[in-house]
Amino acid sequence: MNILHHPGEDMILAYASGASGEAISLLMATHLTFCPQCRRAVARAESLGGAVLETAVPVTMGEGALAATLARLDTPVSATPVPQPQDGTPAPLRPYLGGSLSSVRWRSMGASLAFVPLFRRDGVSVKLLKGVPGADTGLHSHLGKEFTLVLQGGFSDATGSYAPGDVQIADTDVWHSPKADTGEDCINLSVTTAPLRFKGLVPTIAGKLFGF
Ligand SMILES: [Zn+2]
Repeated sequence: MNILHHPGEDMILAYASGASGEAISLLMATHLTFCPQCRRAVARAESLGGAVLETAVPVTMGEGALAATLARLDTPVSATPVPQPQDGTPAPLRPYLGGSLSSVRWRSMGASLAFVPLFRRDGVSVKLLKGVPGADTGLHSHLGKEFTLVLQGGFSDATGSYAPGDVQIADTDVWHSPKADTGEDCINLSVTTAPLRFKGLVPTIAGKLFGF
């Protein structure tokens, strides 16, 4: 698998140090199941962080920091290949789906798009999005950031083409109109930090339905 679009170094470091929120942690952990390059980067950052911790003066950690760190210890990251399960559901997603990708209950939005809300916390919304082959999501921008990880199929917009494992990060500067590739359904994991801004009335209503 050839991943072209990776999360930024800042995201790697934040994830390795346990500083990512739950939503981005989920996106990162899922990306890592696709991407040996980022698994190595996380492993390097973790060993670096461990060395720093051994020499650091103790500081008071925020509430939840210990739990988050301990939780991370339960999810070892290595550069060795992570076998993708046969049903194509990355392991980190399973607890959020209550099973496999093939068994989730899609809420349809029109003929070509569907979504599954996973959770929303502190203004961050996490969902699965699905487009039938060739589906157009409509031109939109963002009040915050939109992180998209392709799980199946693929999509393209003015910034490039995205295949399984690729991560797209879009913010207020980007107006884009992602279009699902032809072939199979495109399924993405989407993390948005604020509502999307659609052009036109219908997409606005669609946005409200989506819960963006
Ligand atoms: Zn990567």
